[in-house]
Amino acid sequence: MSDSSTSYFDIQTLLRDNIRRLQPYNSARDDFQGAAQVYLDANENPYPSAYNRYPDPHQHALKEKIADLKGVSPEQIFLGNGSDEAIDLLIRAFCEPHVESILTAEPTYGMYAVCAHINAVQVQKVLLNELYDIELDRIGDVVNNSTKIIFLCSPNNPTGNLLNSEAIHEILDRFYGLVVVDEAYIDFVPGKSFLPFLHQYPNLVVLQTFSKAWGLAGLRLGMCFANKAVIRILNKIKYPYNLNAATLNIVADALDQPFKKDIWVEEIVRERDRLARALLQIRIVERVYPSDANFLLVRVRDAQATYRALMAEQIIVRDRSQVELCRNCLRITVGTPREDDLLLFALGNL
Ligand SMILES: *Cc1c(COP(=O)(O)O)cnc(C)c1O
Repeated sequence: MSDSSTSYFDIQTLLRDNIRRLQPYNSARDDFQGAAQVYLDANENPYPSAYNRYPDPHQHALKEKIADLKGVSPEQIFLGNGSDEAIDLLIRAFCEPHVESILTAEPTYGMYAVCAHINAVQVQKVLLNELYDIELDRIGDVVNNSTKIIFLCSPNNPTGNLLNSEAIHEILDRFYGLVVVDEAYIDFVPGKSFLPFLHQYPNLVVLQTFSKAWGLAGLRLGMCFANKAVIRILNKIKYPYNLNAATLNIVADALDQPFKKDIWVEEIVRERDRLARALLQIRIVERVYPSDANFLLVRVRDAQATYRALMAEQIIVRDRSQVELCRNCLRITVGTPREDDLLLFALGNL
């Protein structure tokens, strides 16, 4: 990592050459804003149905709403088909295949490494410490000239904890590439987002999603927040109509009632703490890790046997026992009180 006094951010040198030179696909609707009288440009069926027209490729209306809610400008928002689209596009835009790398702090969400490998981009893996937090020295030892993006997940999946925010600030100050902070679970810890620091760090990228707290996983809508130059790149390389019109409409409605999400979050957090206490009473449970998210990482006596026994009872949890630092651990999503009681009952009988 460079010394903070000499750190710089230059998106043109960070980008891959082919992306810098790329002439993007252009549709007539990029040249005309607002509502026209007659549309004869896109070979659509002219007879009205709910979805006979292509959706707005830049999702202006929805971005205005999200910008209001999040306190950012619409030019700082990219919307993707899930956060996974943003992860993939960031890697494709900034990492030269076979030559450059991303860095991940393990154990963490698997898609960073999968997207990197699909794109023939190398993955530099650094282990979290025994508290599942980042160690700056370990990251500093591994970062080199090939490292273009550092992925940090906070609260982290599958461990459930927020990462040390001072350490994240330090990385943002000292690393010359992009620092992606994946905040898929941030709604469960209000006030901890890195969004307020967007204006301070040109290399900060924040990912959030409608898939968890908002209860809209089936629609596939992920949000990516960054400085305008980074957002412009993602828009340049995305599929023109990456989000469908049904998703745009339904999410716009959900954004008109954000209190619904807030009530769910309150209930889920309360239920998470009840579930954690109840799990500790169970014979085969050895440890319940602290969680800032809507799931618990739980160490049991024999994770694989427990996973299979629960499955036989038609209760599906996530076996994370083969993951580094997660020996004999299951990741359990917080369900409804009734669902969690079924889980507790089944575990109590093992
Ligand atoms: C669930 C999850 C996502 C997935 O987001 P989508 O918007 O559904 O693609 C992203 N990051 C992490 C860490 C997650 O756990």
